[in-house]
Amino acid sequence: MKNTFDLLIETDFPKIKRAQLETLQVNLGYLCNQQCLHCHVDASPRRKEIMSAETVSDVLGFLKRKNIETLDLTGGAPEMNPEFCSLVKQATDMGVHVIDRCNLTVLLEKGYEDTASFLAENKVEVVASMPCYLEDNVDAQRGKGVFDSSIEGLKLLNQNGYGIDEQLQLNLVYNPQGINLPPSQNVLEPAYKKELKQRFGIAFNNLYTITNMPIKRFGSTLLSKGLFDEYMQLLKSSYSKENLAGLMCRTTLSVDWQGYAYDCDFNQMLVLPAGLAVAELSSGAAKQIHINDLLQRDLKGGDIAIMDHCYGCTAGNGSSCGGALI
Ligand code: SF4
Ligand code: SF4
Repeated sequence: MKNTFDLLIETDFPKIKRAQLETLQVNLGYLCNQQCLHCHVDASPRRKEIMSAETVSDVLGFLKRKNIETLDLTGGAPEMNPEFCSLVKQATDMGVHVIDRCNLTVLLEKGYEDTASFLAENKVEVVASMPCYLEDNVDAQRGKGVFDSSIEGLKLLNQNGYGIDEQLQLNLVYNPQGINLPPSQNVLEPAYKKELKQRFGIAFNNLYTITNMPIKRFGSTLLSKGLFDEYMQLLKSSYSKENLAGLMCRTTLSVDWQGYAYDCDFNQMLVLPAGLAVAELSSGAAKQIHINDLLQRDLKGGDIAIMDHCYGCTAGNGSSCGGALI
């Protein structure tokens, strides 16, 4: 796989600082039942890296100490980590709102059939990938048969009250197929709702549009097709400074499967430690920071590590794990 890292280091992206920490986004590992083309974490059924029980305990300690409102679980398929249910239960008992970033197809996998009802019982918010409401587009991006399984997964969530009971939020994620920015979230959401309702009887709450990042598997595809420069030009020419205030890295800390901290999920994939200045990166002084070393530290006002991929968050209407920014 080709790597875009060196092409992204030099940047003129504006310096940004942290605000109050609200969300801990935790990657429970790179094991996944799928292997999607656009995946920025290179997850697959072959990956062995998953968070241990000891690190899950560190995460719970961090949530408590920092009084964090939201725990956002991602992967891979987070549900495939054996500690998933225990972490969800303990966090919800602490009053933390839990989000599960679910690929839908895992809900149908052998051994995971009870996951949908478990999520509902614990009132976990589900954020599910659904890059299109058309079968060909989904299967081209996420693998043959993924569309049908995703529809089955959505039906299962609806049967458990998701998208219907207001306490059971079901939000879908759209990302573009090629080298273009997502269309307007406000325009796309009603179209998704109409199509999924009419064709499959499926209900959901919100649609989040997310811009593809020029890193990892998608970055490699851009390089292989000779489209990297064109895509970066698109991101930079679509820069909107109104998006800076809402950047997710200002209120979120991302944690990898070993407990190391990053300013966002994308920086985690680039192994760009939290608060790192580009100068430190170039001088080879970059050190990984564990969440246990941040327990006493107030992150508010601290630097955020930026590189050129950050333009993916400020292009057009902006992009974050919670969708468009403006
Ligand atoms: S389902 Fe998600 S984590 Fe798994 S390979 Fe696809 S994009 Fe990556
Ligand atoms: S990639 Fe986006 S979320 Fe991550 S540090 Fe850059 S601007 Fe912030």
